[in-house]
Amino acid sequence: MPDTSALVIPALTYAGRGWPVFMLARSKRPVANCPDCPTDAAGHDREACPCLTCHGFYAASTDPDRVTAIVTTVPTGQLALRTGAPSGTVVIDVDPAHGGRDTMNALIADGLLPPTAYVVTGSGGLHLYYRHPGQPISCSQGKPGQGLGPGVDVKADGGYVVLPPSVHPRTGRPYRWAPNRDMQEMPPALVTACQPVTPAPPPTLPHSPTTIRAAGGISCPDRLLAAHLDAVASATEGARRTTLYGAARGVARMVKVDAISRDDAIAALTDAGRQAEQTDRDIRAAIRGGFRAEGLAA
Ligand SMILES: [Zn+2]
Ligand SMILES: [Zn+2]
Repeated sequence: MPDTSALVIPALTYAGRGWPVFMLARSKRPVANCPDCPTDAAGHDREACPCLTCHGFYAASTDPDRVTAIVTTVPTGQLALRTGAPSGTVVIDVDPAHGGRDTMNALIADGLLPPTAYVVTGSGGLHLYYRHPGQPISCSQGKPGQGLGPGVDVKADGGYVVLPPSVHPRTGRPYRWAPNRDMQEMPPALVTACQPVTPAPPPTLPHSPTTIRAAGGISCPDRLLAAHLDAVASATEGARRTTLYGAARGVARMVKVDAISRDDAIAALTDAGRQAEQTDRDIRAAIRGGFRAEGLAA
């Protein structure tokens, strides 16, 4: 059974450099809360809670006395770092058992993972340490669409990692630092890659500068035009022609009240149709039909 008194000095060293540390149970999971501490945050300040092991990473500290008490309280546990803004770290967690090496090599080839400080974990994985960029970086584990690829997770705000020289409970091997490496900044492309997938931005108007004017009771002609074009772009394959026809009628009405010029309208609709992978012939027919239905030549 490993003796965590060997972790006191390393824990104080981490704390001394401003890294909040805490103890995990032998299972590598947070220690269960005491009976007095609720498991949810409602009405209970987890950051301020004096308990040494409650609330997972919220128990982490840089205070030497508290750190010493925390480490000695969990004699078979593992030393852990609270990642993210509190420690100024973002850790890229590479798990070779789930394809992490191939993913990591691809990310390295793309320039997303420059050489930096890293830990070889007790199970043969890697933890690559980068400086926190100052904007929120969320953890990816267990959230589809947020990881960097198979076997590569992000541990940052709201997360933690096991620190050397903790011993892996299954393999019996220690976590260890690769020697002589400094923690580097995250390249901008890595910061971007760590952002959760967000819905697509609203469509941008093609053919700028397209002149559109508030006119004829249309208070937001740019938004109206964008809505018509977006309908074309997002139509299902079978509905694209009728959707383009409907959009052409709508934009023709904008032309009639002089909110947009006829040429700009046709150009915008043609662009939208091409983006929806329709033939130029179908696009011309839909625009001509839509315009004619609104009493306009096209
Ligand atoms: Zn407690
Ligand atoms: Zn508490």
